[in-house]
Amino acid sequence: MMLSEWNVPFHALVDAAPDGILVCDEQGLLVLVNSEAERMFGYDHDALLGLSIELLIPDRVRPRHRHHIASYHAEPRRRPMGTDLVLHGRHRDGTEFPVEISLSPFTTERGLLIIAGIRDVSDRRELELANKRATAFLLSAVEAVQEAFLLFDEHDRVMMVNSAARELMGPVGDAPITDRTFEDLLRASIAAAMYELGDESADDWCARRLAYHRSPSGVFDLWTRGGRSLRVTERKTADHGTVTMIADITEDVQQARELRQAREQAEAASEAKSEFLSSMSHELRTPLNAILGFAQLLERDRKQPLTVRQLERLAHVSRGGEHLLRLIDDVLDLARIESGRVSVSSEPVEIADVLAEVIHTLEPIAARAGIQMASPAVATATPRVTADRTRLAQILMNFGSNAIKYGKPEGRVAFRTECGPATVRITVSDDGIGIPEDKRDKIFEPFQRAGQEAGPIEGTGIGLTISKRLAEIMCGSVGFVSEVGRGSEFWIELPAHHDQAPDVPSAQSSAPIASRLALGQRRHTIVYVEDNPSNIAFMREFVDDLSSIELLTAPNAEIGVELIRDRRPNVVIMDINLPGISGFEAVKRLREWPETRDIPVIGLSAAALAKDTARARDAGFHRYLTKPVKVAELTDALERLLEDR
Ligand code: ADP
Repeated sequence: MMLSEWNVPFHALVDAAPDGILVCDEQGLLVLVNSEAERMFGYDHDALLGLSIELLIPDRVRPRHRHHIASYHAEPRRRPMGTDLVLHGRHRDGTEFPVEISLSPFTTERGLLIIAGIRDVSDRRELELANKRATAFLLSAVEAVQEAFLLFDEHDRVMMVNSAARELMGPVGDAPITDRTFEDLLRASIAAAMYELGDESADDWCARRLAYHRSPSGVFDLWTRGGRSLRVTERKTADHGTVTMIADITEDVQQARELRQAREQAEAASEAKSEFLSSMSHELRTPLNAILGFAQLLERDRKQPLTVRQLERLAHVSRGGEHLLRLIDDVLDLARIESGRVSVSSEPVEIADVLAEVIHTLEPIAARAGIQMASPAVATATPRVTADRTRLAQILMNFGSNAIKYGKPEGRVAFRTECGPATVRITVSDDGIGIPEDKRDKIFEPFQRAGQEAGPIEGTGIGLTISKRLAEIMCGSVGFVSEVGRGSEFWIELPAHHDQAPDVPSAQSSAPIASRLALGQRRHTIVYVEDNPSNIAFMREFVDDLSSIELLTAPNAEIGVELIRDRRPNVVIMDINLPGISGFEAVKRLREWPETRDIPVIGLSAAALAKDTARARDAGFHRYLTKPVKVAELTDALERLLEDR
């Protein structure tokens, strides 16, 4: 059915059109305004008829509009108005709104009419603006990223790139980066020799880089010819594109290298320090061996007994030597703790047992100093701690001997134990000289003797430092309170051990061994392998008292081994550090021959570290004694090997 058959007035259709329609004559006066246009511009029905179209145009564009009308009349045709321009309509209330306008001419007998179709595009404009803002925001965010940033689309072409990336890809040619494919950029960068490929061929490197780009995981590190380290991180986007970030990590790499070097240097220095201390200890122990050994022999000399005065002088020599030995041991111990080489065991320790042992050891010293030692009252359940028994005893010995040393004659030293929910505190208290307030904060630092440096009381100033470090290694802590002239209390706190104590029968102390080696004719032969003349002289004098022993000596291991094969002694005493082959090597050779395989060898060395003892045991030494030799210890070892076998 044709429209004419509908019998609808034509102007009613125009009025009902969804877009605004305006018609004006050659003078620009409105001859038709449909309802949508009236609504859009805010006018009543027919209110605009006969008025100038300029009423609907913002004031600022009116002059330009007149010019446009003139030129349109010169060349009237259907076209959109103001292509590339944002056009605005003027509402009756003076506000402006964005519009899209299409024009077409209509020639009548009375002249030209211009028909304008008008659409309010406020909503669309708003959307466009929001989009534009979002894009600008994204671009500035990408630009703000410090790393080089590239976004590749699903065809692997560069879609977005920031200036850091542009700068990085500088040598890749003059063509803009956008729209180039990843592979194209990669090959161009290889051709421009941008990267240091190391031993890899360009093809292999390119294949590896492409493989990472295609399925990226982790990072891809590369180095520029200019010596910079770059770290590439790529990820696939949901739309099959790829995000590429390239960070310059040159400084991080440099810092890590410097840190590693510093750590290696520190480790080497610490190793060198330990080596130095160990060899220094060795060097000091060797002459000390002679000093203390001869002092002991002089004291025991029955053929030519010393006068009281001589014995007193000798006591000074021994005391000095022992002090030096303690100092060496303490310094070594501290060095080992500080370099983290001390391993402590973690076992349930019965405090009462350790205290009994410590008190038993200290009692004679306390008695000499005229100090009374008070044992702790026996509790029904003796508390236990998780600790290393030997190290706990060492700490308590340090606290206890200090309490005696810095105590008052006729004074008192007491031990007490207090149990907390998770810890046990053992306190050693004295009523001695106390510690001056201004010296207290440094008391646990090495070589700090709190004003005792010039005093008569012997000490090294390391004991408390060692105690504190050991307590910390055992997950415990130490502390003290003190008052000058009234006394001090030093305590150690350790984790409590709550499990039931097992019923262990108390260890039987072995009966003292009588010295049987001094009785009867020669029946034992000992070979002593030693290069140091004073040590040999000491050993000769030592054996002089033991009539059952014949001593043969060898100045080095080569001669020693021959002597041992020839004479088949009952026992060999072997120094470790010898000119030529070492004591370890000598023992190895002795173990190879059936005639010498079973001869027990006692190692005797100034190397006193635990690792030295362990090494000697592994090497096949029967016993390992450290210099300076304790006469009783050596006698005991020989008696066991010679008489008890
Ligand atoms: P040392 O006793 O060998 O000097 P320590 O490290 O054991 O070394 O102790 C450091 C210093 O702390 C001592 O020199 C002494 O001045 C002070 N001190 C330690 N214990 C006591 C105590 N019970 N009473 C008074 N002073 C003490």
